[in-house]
Amino acid sequence: MRIIMLGAPGVGKGSQASRIAESFAIPHISTGDLFREQINANTAIGQKVSSFMNQGMLVPDEITIEILEKRLSGDDCKNGFVLDGFPRTLQQAASLDKMLEEMNISIDIVLNISLDDTTIVRRITGRRTCPACGAIYHIDDCPPKENDVCDRCSVGLKSRADDSVEVIQKRLQVYHKLTRPLIEYYSGKGRFVHIESAGPIADTTERVFEALGTSLRQSV
Ligand code: AMP
Repeated sequence: MRIIMLGAPGVGKGSQASRIAESFAIPHISTGDLFREQINANTAIGQKVSSFMNQGMLVPDEITIEILEKRLSGDDCKNGFVLDGFPRTLQQAASLDKMLEEMNISIDIVLNISLDDTTIVRRITGRRTCPACGAIYHIDDCPPKENDVCDRCSVGLKSRADDSVEVIQKRLQVYHKLTRPLIEYYSGKGRFVHIESAGPIADTTERVFEALGTSLRQSV
């Protein structure tokens, strides 16, 4: 199964993508996570991208496309993948089309996850992430069992540097200008499904798996 998750920052793409990845045993490829790994390892790429990310801007297409192309060539992507946060511009979408054509594969389904901007801001400001395993929590909607500690690895949870209200506003502006046009780009191509993300996360997961034509195969 090859899946693209579209949607603004904070709609819950990452949480849904990790459930899909677990259920279908395919890699969850998040360009945001790939960049954060580079930043944590203090690589040349990490140094180039951190200021764009901290300001809520997109990383330039050529850097993003290169890192994604490298990741997609991994052996673990042969049986499928779920893309979370890529593509985010029309140029990235066109490059992805080219990559897939060269690999002789195609996307099975594009899921467009939507949510109003006010709820997005509330979701992002309450988001907490485990720095060790990447698990995502929300202080109200999906809290850890113990306050601010990851259920899986007992590590202290963190807010992301780009999850402040000012940076979120910028990221939403960028989304509406550069990423939203992808809805039109993909709605004329293959299977494209809109999924509303308001309400409990588990309800969105149910809608996602219904769109994928299956029910959630593993407990999450
Ligand atoms: P995310 O974790 O998907 O919210 O992404 C965090 C940040 O990483 C974004 O605000 C961008 O600065 C950068 N980023 C992630 N994916 C992309 C992409 N496809 N194109 C450009 N920048 C990206």
